[in-house]
Amino acid sequence: MDNCVFCKIRKGEIPGTILYKDEDFMIIKNIAPSSKVHLLAIPTEHAPFIADISEKSAELLGKMMSKISHMQEELGLTNGYRLIINQGEDAGQTVSHIHIHIMGGEKLAEF
Ligand code: 5GP
Ligand code: ZN
Repeated sequence: MDNCVFCKIRKGEIPGTILYKDEDFMIIKNIAPSSKVHLLAIPTEHAPFIADISEKSAELLGKMMSKISHMQEELGLTNGYRLIINQGEDAGQTVSHIHIHIMGGEKLAEF
């Protein structure tokens, strides 16, 4: 999608710190972290909401979580991490391209 920051980062059109990239998804550093380690796992397919994604991408969300767990130490998340997907206005979603927040590197607030 032309106007999407995550699609632009993937294509190298704007800068971004990419920690992992394959044909299906990438993991980048959040430009405005809310925790010591705050990364974003972003599927290649541009879809705003889980409700919009193809069956292949639905399976991919599971694969992404598996990859994150395998990269746990490498990503600086040795003691654990939190995964969050914001969907829509009430959740405060600001970028309309599905992404998983990966947060950790410190003790996170309970909720
Ligand atoms: P949302 O609020 O949609 O769940 O999360 C969007 C996240 O993307 C925010 O945490 C925000 O800091 C991050 N973000 C927005 N624009 C950029 C950008 O240009 N580069 C990177 N690396 N992160 C971004
Ligand atoms: Zn996009």
